[in-house]
Amino acid sequence: MAVQLRTKYTIIPITNNTPRSHRPSLSRLRAICSVNSTAAKPRPNREKLVVVVNPLLSNDPTLQSTWTHRFWVSAGCTSVFASLAKSVVAGFASHLWLEPALAGFVGYILADLVSGVYHWASDNYGDESTPLVGTLIEDSQSHHKWPCTITRRQFANNLHFLARGVTLTVLPLDLAFNDHVVHGFVSTFAFCVLFCQQFHAWAHGTKSKLPPLVVALQDMGLLVSRTHHVKHHRAPYSNNYCVVSGVWNKALDENNVFEAMEMVLYFQLGVRPRSWTDPIL
Ligand SMILES: [Zn+2]
Ligand SMILES: [Zn+2]
Repeated sequence: MAVQLRTKYTIIPITNNTPRSHRPSLSRLRAICSVNSTAAKPRPNREKLVVVVNPLLSNDPTLQSTWTHRFWVSAGCTSVFASLAKSVVAGFASHLWLEPALAGFVGYILADLVSGVYHWASDNYGDESTPLVGTLIEDSQSHHKWPCTITRRQFANNLHFLARGVTLTVLPLDLAFNDHVVHGFVSTFAFCVLFCQQFHAWAHGTKSKLPPLVVALQDMGLLVSRTHHVKHHRAPYSNNYCVVSGVWNKALDENNVFEAMEMVLYFQLGVRPRSWTDPIL
């Protein structure tokens, strides 16, 4: 049996030399495989198989963690742990647990809202040339073209950007405050913000391959689930932005909060959100 591989375009291997901005075009490469039987049949039996080639494989360097990524994730986790330790130690000393526990709950709820605003902003505004956050915006927007790529992104690679922000914010708070209620809020809020991209990745994971604890938390609604987040990747696309627990999504979408913010930005600054022109956002 002879197998012929026919393509409409030349297949170019993905290397470090391939400009990142050129890679998306490779995703649209369609390889048509024709299977010809060379047995004594007068008419070969032909089958056509269409294969869509994903440009970002798990060994792609843009998905792998660097030591800089690991440094910032470690620093972020350390600053969050220091804040949590201050809250717990002061709670032991004062025997007051209710206030820091409530502050922690508020931090958890508020982090979901902040994750939605952050996600909405990076999906809709700026591009890869935007100073400081260009790579982040590019990654966020390419996530809509290849949603499953986030599951191949290594841990520190996925978290390092927010870990950097958490470190630079929480470390000064660790040094400035000793109040256990403040740190009850700060530690929970910062933890959820730091890990929200991991929660997002888990929402794209296959249930059978996720840790049982993660599946249990998703089923309880404490972490955003696959069935909840998948709505963000379906028409009209501009909803369900929150990726910690998703608890804010219903209220935000039913009250058209993000649409209202887009209108304000358009009329005040003349900036159009990408969701108005890009069919997959
Ligand atoms: Zn999105
Ligand atoms: Zn997603």
